[in-house]
Amino acid sequence: MNIKPLISKRRTIQILFGFSLYLLISYFHVSLLYVLIGGSLLGVILGKVFCRWMCPMGFIMELMMGGNKKGAEASQMYQYHKLGCPIAWVGGFFNRFSLFGISRNKQTCTSCGICDKTCYISSLNENYSLYKEDKETSGSAFSCSRCLECVSSCPNGSLSIKALPWRKEKASVELVAEEVQETEQEVLAD
Ligand code: SF4
Ligand code: SF4
Repeated sequence: MNIKPLISKRRTIQILFGFSLYLLISYFHVSLLYVLIGGSLLGVILGKVFCRWMCPMGFIMELMMGGNKKGAEASQMYQYHKLGCPIAWVGGFFNRFSLFGISRNKQTCTSCGICDKTCYISSLNENYSLYKEDKETSGSAFSCSRCLECVSSCPNGSLSIKALPWRKEKASVELVAEEVQETEQEVLAD
């Protein structure tokens, strides 16, 4: 499924959700606790998606950052999405285990690096990457706020959202491949 049109409307969706949340809390006096519980449950399904698709504060942080992925504002947003509120904590914890997450197709990826330039995590921290095998995966990082700009930036459509069984299956295939490679290296070294 092509989700790029949806990703291009993310900020509009965030404004609508943010304003609705503001109305629910300030006008209809809905307890903030329900928002926290709802946002946290969403983290189990999609990871830290609340921060960049629904949160009014997340929208303001992004406005402050502008297009700069490496400056002081980007660092502030990085810290905010790490520690901002309990929804960010729960969502961040589940980024690695959420039902749906970011997956890369190794067969079609050309290692062009565009995705890393788009992502503020990879831009700020060289230990993270969306495509480099020897780095931590940005999409599973605690601070990944599921903006999905990496997915929409890939010219080959190599990044997509996959459900956990396929993500796991891929992980196990990768593990087996790595073990085979290690065994081959050991045999060659003997
Ligand atoms: S943008 Fe796509 S093709 Fe380029 S490195 Fe990232 S995943 Fe691979
Ligand atoms: S969704 Fe992609 S671009 Fe956005 S923060 Fe996560 S890894 Fe980076």
